[in-house]
Amino acid sequence: MSETDIIDPTTPRKNPKPEVTKIDGRALKPATLMMGHGYDPTLSEGSLKPPIFLTSTFAFPSAADGKRHFEGITGKRPGGADGLVYSRFNAPNQEILEDRLSIWDGAEDALSFSSGMTAICVLMLAYASQGDVIVHSGPLYAASEGFVAKVMAKFGVTYVDFPAGATREEIDAVLEKAKNQASDQGGKVCMIYLESPGNPTNALVDIEAVKEARDAALDWDCPIAIDNTFLGPLWQRPLDHGADIVVYSLTKYVGGHSDLVAGSIAGAKKWMDPVRSLRNTMGGICDPNTAWMLLRSLETVELRMQRAGENAAKVCDYLSKHEKVEGLGYLGMIEGERQQDIYDRHCLGAGSTFSLLLKGGEAECFRFLDALKIAKLAVSLGGTETLASHPASMTHLSVAEGRRTELGISDNLVRISIGIEDADDLIADFEQALEQV
Ligand SMILES: *Cc1c(COP(=O)(O)O)cnc(C)c1O
Repeated sequence: MSETDIIDPTTPRKNPKPEVTKIDGRALKPATLMMGHGYDPTLSEGSLKPPIFLTSTFAFPSAADGKRHFEGITGKRPGGADGLVYSRFNAPNQEILEDRLSIWDGAEDALSFSSGMTAICVLMLAYASQGDVIVHSGPLYAASEGFVAKVMAKFGVTYVDFPAGATREEIDAVLEKAKNQASDQGGKVCMIYLESPGNPTNALVDIEAVKEARDAALDWDCPIAIDNTFLGPLWQRPLDHGADIVVYSLTKYVGGHSDLVAGSIAGAKKWMDPVRSLRNTMGGICDPNTAWMLLRSLETVELRMQRAGENAAKVCDYLSKHEKVEGLGYLGMIEGERQQDIYDRHCLGAGSTFSLLLKGGEAECFRFLDALKIAKLAVSLGGTETLASHPASMTHLSVAEGRRTELGISDNLVRISIGIEDADDLIADFEQALEQV
């Protein structure tokens, strides 16, 4: 081999083209950045789309680089690793995904996970120590509520909850109670965990009031985290209203095609670092194939959510006037000043997931669900296709009846997630199904 055959692997073949994030001083919008942000084709043979990097480990250019990367991974040097090391820590597809997820929420940093629940569990474990108290809004996604009440309890972490929609005074009282509880247990209030809107009632949490209450009551770093799966990233931007960490099940609107399971969190680096460190230890990072699928999904997330939102508005307008309908839990038709006030301050759209209350009970709901021809009978939400389910006998079957009533999960409640089909076709489907009731 002659000397000229040797290509120095540390020298890129072409100069990477710097990414454009502004034109004439105007910042580009997320919908534009989704097509290229965080990926340079010249580093991957010019491939317009990122390849899927199926590798468990990454070769270091030199031993000194390896040492420097590990100083980042182990936290000996702040700011994380500046190069790729091993795929439990991070890899190219996941890094591009995390860069693009941060953009939607206006976050400094994001972390991807193998499911929404992995994101939530690792987040809570990273912040809680023995004796601590987690304050949370209610209702939460059933698995999140179970993780706090049953799993964290095994490690001496307790909780205090408050209903979504609570006022500043009510939240103040809950934080006071939580502080006392923590001091009895020799711990602190370690996290305020919200979910808004709540499922399946769509009750909204006043994030601004929670932040004001936290700032007044707690003088240590206690993050406010919020599960934004139902309205994010398009219709609610919690970091703008005082939340510190946004949590997603990417399985829903972000993935959007009911063909993957993944999760993420986003926020300031300071809040992400402890979670990244625990993820490095435990694993739970999103796999490269799923990350690639999510990059494809993110290119259309705005289009899909807009269309689903428009469809839901038309469908709800139709349903609200139907004689067999008792009511709707739809954010575009809120009853009650308090909820409307929170909606006006926090939300940019009413979403496409709502509850439909039929006149009658389980039997009427089942007849309606069994008669649907376009809408599929399945749990989950946020996909391109319309889904319908019966929470009281499905997703919330394990919730005690008294608690179900308290949460407003009645036997006559059907939950619907509207997709991106033709709105008139959907209305025709609901019309013929209601005739069967
Ligand atoms: C689905 C969902 C989760 C859990 O996400 P997975 O991706 O299924 O683990 C958490 N929170 C909300 C609000 C959800 O809808």
